Amino acid sequence: MSEDIILQASGLTKEFKGFVAVSNVDLTVRRGTIHALIGPNGAGKTTCFNLLTKFLQPTGGVIRYNGQDITAMQPADIARLGLVRSFQISAVFPKMSALENVRIALQRRRGDSFDFWRSEKVLAGLNHEAAALLEDVGLTDFSATLAGELPYGRKRALEIATTLALDPEMLLLDEPMAGMTQEDIDRISSLIRRISANRTIFMVEHNLSVVASLSDRITVLARGEVLAEGDYATVSKDSRVIDAYIGV
Ligand code: ADP
Repeated sequence: MSEDIILQASGLTKEFKGFVAVSNVDLTVRRGTIHALIGPNGAGKTTCFNLLTKFLQPTGGVIRYNGQDITAMQPADIARLGLVRSFQISAVFPKMSALENVRIALQRRRGDSFDFWRSEKVLAGLNHEAAALLEDVGLTDFSATLAGELPYGRKRALEIATTLALDPEMLLLDEPMAGMTQEDIDRISSLIRRISANRTIFMVEHNLSVVASLSDRITVLARGEVLAEGDYATVSKDSRVIDAYIGV
């Protein structure tokens, strides 16, 4: 596998009791890119996303991350390799502040023990690191706000911050713009762009203008199969892609 390929799925298949939701999908994500998975409703995007992060076990195919076969691995083991799905740790505790949420995520990454917490110096260091992450996602003004009281778009930004606390090499985002206002979308878009400076991003996203402006490469799924792959200009002109979107 070439050095610049970070994630590769070959022949990825998921069958649910006779219904093939994902059929023989080949997918290659290059290091340092923003790669989007799009397609009409029911195309198999969520299933595919869950297969890549091992929340679902494929019924066929092989998934490689940095050349390593991860097909039989558990999500937590994959996260340790650096392939992290946003929201997978569900680390947004509503009764804790935004800062505390990020600090807990940092603590998880380090695998700290309770005793570790007793050191004021260590705690101060973690708080400092958590504050820096909150600044990265534009949440400095909300650091003391309880996570449960954050506006929706800000809560999603906090989820991204808790994911970044795990220092992923590759981040998988499931519909990062779902339910957001245009202002939120603009903010999260620039956040994703900044994150992508030193990480690979793979996202399932419905908002095609976001996909057009952010993605280096796009895979289009329809009825569980790859219909087209390329940059936005290429796939958006593809008659099979246009037919698949119009045909639903
Ligand atoms: P998308 O995310 O592109 O809208 P999904 O991956 O959610 O598509 O679903 C693809 C197809 O697989 C749909 O027809 C859906 O009904 C079916 N499907 C998804 N999950 C299951 C499941 N657990 N059992 C049976 N069928 C499923």
